[in-house]
Amino acid sequence: MKVTVVGGGLAGSEAAYALLKRGFEVVMYEMRPDKSTPAHKTGALAELVCSNSLKSELLSTASGTLKEEMKLFDSVVLRAAEGARVPCGGALGVEREIFSREVEKILSSFSGFTLVREEVTSIPEGGVTILATGPLTSEKMAAALADVTGEDYLNFFDAAAPIVTADSVDPDHSFFASRYGTGDADYLNAPMNKEEYLAFYEALTTAERAKQEVDGNYFEGCMPIEVMAEGGVDCLRFGPLRPVGLRHPVTGEKYYAVLQLRKENAAGDLYNLVGFQTGLTFPEQRRVFGLIPALREAEFVRYGVMHRNTFVNAPKVLDAEFRVKGREGVYVAGQLSGVEGYMESAMSGMIAGLSAAARLSGRAFEPFPETTVMGALTRYISTENKDFQPMNANFGILPPLEARIRDKLARKTAYAQRAIKDMTAYAARYERA
Ligand SMILES: Cc1cc2nc3c(=O)[nH]c(=O)nc-3n(C[C@H](O)[C@H](O)[C@H](O)COP(=O)(O)OP(=O)(O)OC[C@H]3O[C@@H](n4cnc5c(N)ncnc54)[C@H](O)[C@@H]3O)c2cc1C
Repeated sequence: MKVTVVGGGLAGSEAAYALLKRGFEVVMYEMRPDKSTPAHKTGALAELVCSNSLKSELLSTASGTLKEEMKLFDSVVLRAAEGARVPCGGALGVEREIFSREVEKILSSFSGFTLVREEVTSIPEGGVTILATGPLTSEKMAAALADVTGEDYLNFFDAAAPIVTADSVDPDHSFFASRYGTGDADYLNAPMNKEEYLAFYEALTTAERAKQEVDGNYFEGCMPIEVMAEGGVDCLRFGPLRPVGLRHPVTGEKYYAVLQLRKENAAGDLYNLVGFQTGLTFPEQRRVFGLIPALREAEFVRYGVMHRNTFVNAPKVLDAEFRVKGREGVYVAGQLSGVEGYMESAMSGMIAGLSAAARLSGRAFEPFPETTVMGALTRYISTENKDFQPMNANFGILPPLEARIRDKLARKTAYAQRAIKDMTAYAARYERA
């Protein structure tokens, strides 16, 4: 049986491998090198468009745990990375040309693999298709996808504020309160005195910015915080850092500027920096936002971004197997499906491939345990969310541990151990079925 994979990036390659390994034929369409994207430079499969790091391998991180989970199903990205490894601290760094060559070599070693260098401009009818055309999906394919999903459910631009874990916000420098005491004090407030604010302002306006693709034409309400700050030193104090009506609930203290953090998930373990959409580079976000006293030790599970990014409103469009609702032979995988990051994109390709392999064999596809990073991300993309934004792997989206563990490292290790135990059992069931 033959499956069509559109896009030879990280997700498409991983989806193809999952199917080839299980005896299916795969026809992969990749439009490069004839037609490229604004970020790709070569015609290679699985080209890493920016950093050459696939992030942490440490088991005490969600990225490391995700890698261990993916290894249980065998991952072409991780196999190729092993052969292309360069020293990168606790992270998995690769020599990008060798990495891509390895991916292509592994896929091409299957007689059932056909690579067609051609742009696909419509969604194939009938059979099973995995669309993995990435954040820079070609225009014609994006239009075809919009026809299936509905215009409102396809985004072309990502303007997002950073998200931090609740327990990394310093409780001694933050307090819960709503402006003028109205509402349920849902906001976590991160105050600054005048001196702190001025230091923050200076750093913000001089920080390094990532290369922008929007040329200053920002959508209303989506202006990056660093651009807004250019309006003058007090601009932010009349905007996202407005302190009026926000006093410390115990001491009654007033502040010069206050950043509000809003709950990002129902569990309340992730917080969004309200109004802080930003195009600063990731290290600069850590440095500059870390000048706000409550955020000195903040753990960022997602950095702010302002870039072109085609992605579907996954909770509306996809089910938990990355299938398009109402078009069950069509999968959407990779960054296009509303996950964020190299490994997360590869992960969703793997899941689409595993689901297609199971279903083409006449089996149902058992949902992943929610205690795993793969299961939690899958649940995230398929759960109703009116402000849906793409998401990286992080422990904040996993259900809490049964027992509360105070020590941070021990807690993260416990998340990882639970995830790997549950995924090991799941993978054995999957391969046995
Ligand atoms: C500029 C930029 C920088 C990024 N930097 C990082 C980073 O440093 N670290 C990180 O973890 N994540 C990063 N990301 C996010 C994301 O992880 C990557 O974009 C990742 O490559 C996504 O994988 P993918 O398989 O979904 O898409 P891609 O890897 O982009 O693969 C999609 C493929 O589909 C092809 N294609 C598109 N349209 C068609 C069509 N109609 N027909 C046939 N082929 C088509 C493309 O040529 C491409 O090869 C970045 C994203 C962008 C846009």
